[in-house]
Amino acid sequence: MKKRNATARSRREGSHYRLSAVSARFAFEILSRAGRARRGRLHLPHGVVETPAFMPVGTRGAVKAITIDAVRDLDADILLANTYHLHVRPGDDRIARLGGLHAFVGWSRPILTDSGGYQVFSLAARRRVTEDAVVFQSHLDGQPLSLSPESAVDIQSRLGSDVAMILDECPSWPIPQTDAEAAMERTLRWARRGRARFEALGTAAAAAVTVSTPGQAQFGIVQGGTFLDLRDRSVAGTVAVGFEGYAIGGLSVGEPTATMYDVVAHTAQALPEAAPRYLMGTGTPDDLVESVARGIDMFDCVLPTRNARNGQLFTNVGRINIKNARYGEDQRPLDRDCACYTCRTFSRAYLRHLFLAGEIAAATLNTLHNLNFYLDTMRGIRDAIAFGRFESFRIAFHQRWSRQAVDS
Ligand SMILES: [Zn+2]
Repeated sequence: MKKRNATARSRREGSHYRLSAVSARFAFEILSRAGRARRGRLHLPHGVVETPAFMPVGTRGAVKAITIDAVRDLDADILLANTYHLHVRPGDDRIARLGGLHAFVGWSRPILTDSGGYQVFSLAARRRVTEDAVVFQSHLDGQPLSLSPESAVDIQSRLGSDVAMILDECPSWPIPQTDAEAAMERTLRWARRGRARFEALGTAAAAAVTVSTPGQAQFGIVQGGTFLDLRDRSVAGTVAVGFEGYAIGGLSVGEPTATMYDVVAHTAQALPEAAPRYLMGTGTPDDLVESVARGIDMFDCVLPTRNARNGQLFTNVGRINIKNARYGEDQRPLDRDCACYTCRTFSRAYLRHLFLAGEIAAATLNTLHNLNFYLDTMRGIRDAIAFGRFESFRIAFHQRWSRQAVDS
């Protein structure tokens, strides 16, 4: 019996594992495909992530308005945390001394940390970019700080995420091609430095840096704005450095949706088939479906959590503004096709009342629902790919989901 299992396992590995080799703790297998869409499984030090995956955003080590237990009960496989915020407060040194981010926040499943670059470019005051580092002032107390390709690696090593991101330069949109090119080229130079530092972790050269999670993986980030030739050059250079996975950065920054889809399709196709592909900071539910169709495996976005706190709810018939007067005596659940605690238990009328009364529970219940909707969408996508009906899922999804609020 034992022998048969072992044989079965090796046969399975032989047929399914297409791996960018890495540490023993990292693997990505593609289980099935539908066109360019992939149903996969990402193996990380703290567990397995079923892909395509959505990562709830836990900016400061918490998903706003809900407990970490609730995130687990929603069955999220992986959490995203923000390096910049945790570096500024309470500090990555402190988190390392407390046993790393998993222990600190009470989450035993995988965590991905961004590099802090995006926040530095969007939040920090008096920012100055040099070849060596980004120098800026803390958005909290004005304290002078800097982030270099190397220190971004060190900070994420102390935090102990399962996946660390390289420091990239995130330009705004629109941007002239020459500026997009300069940012892309700098990101490439920083990628080489970040990878060199990452490979030095655990050796004498980085002896002072705590490694909170052995086997951490590192993803490179492709930049280049909406210029496809720059994206090609960025892919070639980033893949030449070599990472466990690859992210597409610099999208969802205001460009038209059709442009974003074109860049995603073009860039995803150019990336290595065997490595996971992560589209950063995107998007609406239909953006997820359309990006999966173009070959993306991982997503993060603040939309479900932020919109929940503003009373904007994602449902199977489209977006709902719960503050709308029409829900004042509406006894129906928010979304009759949703099995979350909020939809199983409360009426639209009650959710509207909580929101208008400014009750904290409104943010909690709305967040539970919106995250469940996003995670359900990903479960639906994964099943559809696995059962060979992704195209019909995609059509049905667009038929019932509307980008516009259904009550506006
Ligand atoms: Zn629900």
